[in-house]
Amino acid sequence: MNESLFETIYLLGLIIATVIRTGYGMQFSRKDILQRQKEHPVVFIGMVLWGIALFLPLIYMFTSWLEFANYRIPAPLGVLGMVIFFIGLWLLWRSHVDLARNFSPSLFIRHQHTLVTHGVFKTIRHPMYLSFWCWAIGQALLIPNWLAGPLGIIAFYPIYLFRVNREEQQLVEHFGDAYRDYQKVTGRLFPKQKR
Ligand code: SAH
Repeated sequence: MNESLFETIYLLGLIIATVIRTGYGMQFSRKDILQRQKEHPVVFIGMVLWGIALFLPLIYMFTSWLEFANYRIPAPLGVLGMVIFFIGLWLLWRSHVDLARNFSPSLFIRHQHTLVTHGVFKTIRHPMYLSFWCWAIGQALLIPNWLAGPLGIIAFYPIYLFRVNREEQQLVEHFGDAYRDYQKVTGRLFPKQKR
């Protein structure tokens, strides 16, 4: 296991994620929006940081500009990062497939929006956000650099924190008891413990 393998995996992941995101993004049209919820301003800051976090590994890989901020990662941790990163990619794909025409890049309810409770949404309510967490943690373990590695975690934390409540509130307003019942049997990022 060496660093270039981890870097290649990150690069491949970035290409795959871009293809998934672009494909589903293209299926979304502004005309589809039935109702929108304002994002918290902090989310926009997080998104800019997230964009930088995705891009910096390319600078790390193809230039020596960030060398001063390198750290060392024991190989087993790199392997763990690889596993987490793969789980994240799989979840990113599955959550887009399961959401299908209900996906939107922001807090939008679309015309003919249906409540998705199957597939990866069966036990957790935010598999796509879990995929972003996996990506961010995986990236920090695959890219051993203080600037290009852990920034994703710092970027996604405020996005998650300031978006998830508003998103659930909007879904409750739209779907009413159906969403409240769904909340009772699912966890946000991890399945609910059965008592
Ligand atoms: N938070 C989810 C989805 C992110 S995409 C996840 O992490 O997997 C954001 C869009 O998905 C929003 O427009 C939101 O209204 C919609 N959405 C979230 N959960 C949904 C569900 N269970 N059924 C249908 N749409 C959902």
